[in-house]
Amino acid sequence: TVRAVHAVAAPVLDSKRVVLLVTDVEESRRVEAVRRDFIANVSHELKTPVGAMLLLAEAIRDAQDDPAALTHFIDRLIHEANRLSRLVKELIDLSRLQGGDPLPELSEVRVSDIVSDAVEPLHVRAEAAGIRLEVAIPANLCVLGDRRQLATAVTNLVENAIVYSSRGGRVGVGARERVTPEGRIVEIAVSDNGIGIARADQERIFERFYRVDPGRSRATGGTGLGLAIVKHIVNNHGGRISVWSKPGTGSTFTLHLPAPASDTTSSVTDLVTR
Ligand code: ADP
Repeated sequence: TVRAVHAVAAPVLDSKRVVLLVTDVEESRRVEAVRRDFIANVSHELKTPVGAMLLLAEAIRDAQDDPAALTHFIDRLIHEANRLSRLVKELIDLSRLQGGDPLPELSEVRVSDIVSDAVEPLHVRAEAAGIRLEVAIPANLCVLGDRRQLATAVTNLVENAIVYSSRGGRVGVGARERVTPEGRIVEIAVSDNGIGIARADQERIFERFYRVDPGRSRATGGTGLGLAIVKHIVNNHGGRISVWSKPGTGSTFTLHLPAPASDTTSSVTDLVTR
C-alpha cells in the first residue's frame, strides 16, 4: 500500500509531502485499529457479567426450594450487577475525559481535601482487607486542579493499592511540592507493599483493559479502566503520572500536577530583592 500511494502521488507531490501522506494513512489505520480493539474489548467485558447474570437468574428460578443455594446465587447476582454498573460508569467517565467534555476548571484546591474525599470512604474496605492506610499530607499544600476529578484519580490509586496487597500490608498516601526546571509542581504519591508490577507490564497498565492478571482483577471487581481514567485526568490537568514498582516489594504511583502561583514565594522574593 505504501508503494501504491508513493507511485500515485509521486508525479504530483514532492517527497516530503509523500512521506506526510503515507504517515497520515498509517496513523489513521492505527487509530482505526485501536478503535476496533476497544469496541471488541467493551463488547467482551459487557458480555461476561450479562452472561453470568442470565445463568444466575436461571439458577435462582430452579433453586426455590433450597434457601441456602438461593442466598448464594442472589449474592453472586448482586456482585455481577455491581461489576456491570461500575463498568458502565467507568466507560462513561472515560469517554467524557477523552474529549467529550471541556477541560476541567482549574482552581486552587487543598491536597488534604482531595485526599480525604478519596480516602475516607475507603477506610472500611482497607480494614476489611487487613491493610493499614496511612495518610500524611502537609496542611496548607495546594494544587491547581478540579477537586472531584483529582479525588477520583486518588481513589482509583488507593483502591488498587488495597486490592493488589495482602493482609497485613500498608498503603501510604503522601504529597509534597517540588521545584523542577519546568516550574513548581505538586506530587501526590500512593504507595503499597503489595504484589508489585514487572517492568514490561509497567508500560502497559495505563492502557484501557490491560491487566497483568485478568482473573485477579475480575475477582476483585476490577474493570481494567481505573488507571486509564487516572492517566486522562492528570493529562487534562497538564500533569502526568509515573510508576515505580518491583515485583514482590510493592508499587508507588505518583501524580505530578501543576502548583498554583504561590503568593508566599513571591512575597519572600520581593523581600529579598528589595
Ligand atoms: P483493574 O480494574 O484491573 O485494577 P486498573 O486500570 O486500575 O484496572 O489497573 C490495571 C492493572 O494494573 C491491574 O489489573 C493490575 O494488574 C495492575 N495494577 C494496578 N495497580 C497496581 C498495584 N498497586 N499493584 C500491583 N498491580 C497493580
